[in-house]
Amino acid sequence: MQLSDPSLLCHQSFIDGKWCDAADGRQFTVYNPATGESLAEVADCAQIETEQAIRAAQEALNEWRALTAKVRANYLRQWFELIQANQQDLAILMTLEQGKALTEAQGEVAYGASFVEWFAEEGKRQYGEVIPATNSKQRLLTIRQPIGVVAAITPWNFPIAMITRKAAPALAAGCTMVIKPSEETPLCALALAQLADRAGIPAGVLNIVVGRDSKVIGETLTSSSIVRKLSFTGSTPVGKFLLQQCADTVKRTSMELGGNAPFIVFDDADLDKAVEGVLASKYRNSGQTCVCANRILVQSGVYDAFCEKLVQAVQSFKLGNGLEPGVNMGPLINQAAIDKVELLVAQAISAGAQVRLGGQAQTDSLFYQPTVLTEVSAEMDIFHHEIFGPVAPLVRFDSEQQAIELANHTPFGLAAYFYARDMSRIWRVSEALEYGMVGINEGLISNEVAPFGGVKESGIGREGSRHGIDEYSEIKYLCMSVD
Ligand code: ADP
Repeated sequence: MQLSDPSLLCHQSFIDGKWCDAADGRQFTVYNPATGESLAEVADCAQIETEQAIRAAQEALNEWRALTAKVRANYLRQWFELIQANQQDLAILMTLEQGKALTEAQGEVAYGASFVEWFAEEGKRQYGEVIPATNSKQRLLTIRQPIGVVAAITPWNFPIAMITRKAAPALAAGCTMVIKPSEETPLCALALAQLADRAGIPAGVLNIVVGRDSKVIGETLTSSSIVRKLSFTGSTPVGKFLLQQCADTVKRTSMELGGNAPFIVFDDADLDKAVEGVLASKYRNSGQTCVCANRILVQSGVYDAFCEKLVQAVQSFKLGNGLEPGVNMGPLINQAAIDKVELLVAQAISAGAQVRLGGQAQTDSLFYQPTVLTEVSAEMDIFHHEIFGPVAPLVRFDSEQQAIELANHTPFGLAAYFYARDMSRIWRVSEALEYGMVGINEGLISNEVAPFGGVKESGIGREGSRHGIDEYSEIKYLCMSVD
């Protein structure tokens, strides 16, 4: 499938408003996970280019932060409109390099764009406050100011939305930015840079450094004293590592890390609605989202009935190349992802889990069959590890208390879901779940107006919503003496 605007396929880093090769001319290949074909050779940038990008962001900072919020909002609005206008091309690029089905990719482009629209508006509402003084000769107030140069490191599972969810609030608040996208999905990131450039966002405000050596790029960003904040979305081990690196320069951080989402189906749930919720929250993006249901906890009274309905519904998925009509589930991102899912499923089976559907990867490909496992227990590895694949492990429980204990029995705390009808139970369970986000009779919870983020080892900070922009500004307190 061809792009209607081939100039959206970019191969170089975008630094200081210019397209740049790696200083040593190195490139790396971006592959299509559905076909194994090579899609593009992209500049393999590392330390030198990251340092250039940091300098560019620093030089652009003063002018950008001095603009009124309204002027910055106009640039962002223009970027939003260009993203929307190029939705189909961006979605094709995404399906090509990331694998998700085209309709899902189109949805992600709209979701990604929504953050740009939202934060363009929120930038205008960065209010300070006037505080009643404790002393009649003083006046106390606060203003909000941009943090300065910020860095972002983003993952491959939402190659557009994870960039806009950070870049839009940063730019709206008056920060300038250096972004390192995942080496698996640089093309979407570079297409966004191309559109930001067309939107007239000044040189140096938004810099994108692509390269394979994430450790070196990460170290360059975290060790820089110019970079005042790091926003990261990715795995918990890498997040912890980056947090340690940020300690030396005491950077502000936002961390969106792994999850281990419970999806609880109580006896009083609407089972058809719960099945719909699992389809959306478990199998979206082939199970590769940090808010994917990871453990389906089902109360004994409805366990068998729920399982029958789920198996039947999951059979309707069509696995394949996301650009082909009718396909609604794509491949996993790489071989390491397949290996991980295979290992977790094999360990669960050897410990007594039963395969009700799927349970295998297709030979010589990155496609993993949509899978349902039953009789899974808290003793199995699959209960404790983020699967990041289309495997639904069904765990049986008896009481509400047991469900809550099982759900909270993890160091993670990003998203949780539960299905119930009893209003008292809905309140009790909502309050007892140790999670940053809870879907109640709902499997799809993310949008630009709501605060996205986790507790415990799932992260620090919130993205989206009116809180998301606070991550990019500092409160300055002014104490004024008056005679
Ligand atoms: P995932 O499992 O989603 O790939 P990762 O945490 O490995 O999660 O990757 C998320 C982002 O972090 C990617 O952009 C990746 O390149 C980057 N990354 C991975 N390891 C490091 C590291 N040591 N330092 C900095 N960035 C890293």
